Amino acid sequence: MIHAGVIAVQGDVSEHARAIERAAAAHDEEATVHEIRQAGVVPDCDVLLMPGGESTTISRLLQQEGIAPEVQAHVAAGKPVLATCAGLIVASHDAKDDRVETLDLVDVTVDRNAFGRQVDSFEAPVDVTGLDDPFPAVFIRAPLIDEVGEGVEVLAEWDGRPVAVRDGPVVGTSFHPELTDDVRLHRLTFFTDLVAEAAD
Ligand code: GLN
Repeated sequence: MIHAGVIAVQGDVSEHARAIERAAAAHDEEATVHEIRQAGVVPDCDVLLMPGGESTTISRLLQQEGIAPEVQAHVAAGKPVLATCAGLIVASHDAKDDRVETLDLVDVTVDRNAFGRQVDSFEAPVDVTGLDDPFPAVFIRAPLIDEVGEGVEVLAEWDGRPVAVRDGPVVGTSFHPELTDDVRLHRLTFFTDLVAEAAD
């Protein structure tokens, strides 16, 4: 049984809840989903999902509710996180916006709404390291990852720009994997070790 926490202070929560349940099922596991709106739940979670939404609101509520340090402790303990879109903005080192208090879980700098000013939302197939076929990436007022730290692996690019990265146990995407039926990114984030073990 995997205890999966979905940050639920704001944003697309139910989609991630369904995706982690389906990803777990694909690995003969069962996921119990905990919606996180207050402190005290994250320490009981094995994996965390940080959904898209509005990064200014999400970061303010995470600080206000005392959830932010718990998420940082989760990552410091080496436990996995999937942070998507606004979730990635909040998880980044710097979002270059004073209204977003970033958690510094992923050593990248992001530019909020960088794609969005030209193109509000679009879907594009992107090649992701570790996946055999392109992933149908849905971008909605997506952040641009513009600086990538040394320890960060770029997992996918679109138009020459990083759109999916891994920094230790944290995977961050500019796009919304939870808005498609494709749960391969959830599987890649949370079950890579299991996959590797199964292959051994
Ligand atoms: N542009 C939004 C923000 O800055 C993120 C959009 C999204 O999560 N789809 O928070």
